[in-house]
Amino acid sequence: MAQEPKKRHSRARQGKRRAQIHLVTQKPVMCENCGKPTLPHKICANCGYYKKQQYIA
Ligand SMILES: [Zn+2]
Repeated sequence: MAQEPKKRHSRARQGKRRAQIHLVTQKPVMCENCGKPTLPHKICANCGYYKKQQYIA
């Protein structure tokens, strides 16, 4: 049989738990090609370069 919670959590506890559920913003890194801030592991929106290779002309 599956384990069941003995007591139900209060609305305050539920709210405290759900307060932690949110999207975290990615820390921007500087583009190696143009120096503009861009997202890590993503093609630069400004120049289209990623890992010193052009992907978007
Ligand atoms: Zn760039």
